[in-house]
Amino acid sequence: MVKVVRNQEGLEPQLQQARDEKKRIAFIPTMGALHNGHMALIEKAAKTCEYIVVSIFVNPTQFNESDDFEKYPRDENADIFKLKETACSLVYIPEVSDIYPDKKPKLLDYYDEMFDAYEGVYRPGHFRGVVTVVMRFFDIIEPDEAYFGYKDIQQYRLIKKASAYYGKKTKVVGVETQREDNGLAMSSRNFRLSSSDKKLAGEIYKSLSYIAQRPNSSPKAIAASEAKRLKNLNIAVEYLEVCDLEKIRPVDSWQPKDENVVMFAAKVNGVRLIDNLMF
Ligand code: AMP
Repeated sequence: MVKVVRNQEGLEPQLQQARDEKKRIAFIPTMGALHNGHMALIEKAAKTCEYIVVSIFVNPTQFNESDDFEKYPRDENADIFKLKETACSLVYIPEVSDIYPDKKPKLLDYYDEMFDAYEGVYRPGHFRGVVTVVMRFFDIIEPDEAYFGYKDIQQYRLIKKASAYYGKKTKVVGVETQREDNGLAMSSRNFRLSSSDKKLAGEIYKSLSYIAQRPNSSPKAIAASEAKRLKNLNIAVEYLEVCDLEKIRPVDSWQPKDENVVMFAAKVNGVRLIDNLMF
């Protein structure tokens, strides 16, 4: 049975009980509108942790356009229903005031150069909001492990770094991107795509997979030609670039195996999608 709590007072006794029972606590932050990508995080967490906390919180500090925040899909009842079928022990659905007691939320002054690359460029302030809310959750929950999707590769790498910087004991674990049959990365934003948009968006994975085969050309040239192909199909590419996986900076030549990542963002019929592929 999944327990639903809405504030820290409700959360604390549950966590204490889990700790008394010597259970390892996993934490999975989400913004709700749950899909099988989120479920994969829960499944992986259940392999090493006996007590799994999923949060549902649409974090206002990581949205720069307030209408995007308003438009974010929310369906709490459906989410709780889905979580009942999983290994999730507790779902934490806080109010904004439970996470940010001050009227004007205080943001951490942590900085990383990744704040100014890719998603950081298109969403100014986004990563500072993400780091702030995740560190806040780590303070409240003190999980042994926390799970993040590689789909948001910059977020995963940043959280790993910020968590080490702030001396958190939580082990940050990454999970493979879950995809639809046509390769489209699962995302809460896909709920806003029509079936023909979804079909079209399958072309994104074709491009990423093709690039990951390191065709006989430079990374920059091949990324540019795939961006052109997608644009011709009416996929409004914002970035498509091959980077080194460590720093997430563009490269001029292919890096050794498992040290490359192709970074991607585009709008399909006004819906912004991000994806990446590590190779
Ligand atoms: P969100 O609810 O979009 O904030 O995502 C919550 C967590 O789920 C983040 O760590 C995401 O990276 C992860 N996630 C979202 N989509 C996927 C996916 N398709 N595959 C794996 N993880 C995902």
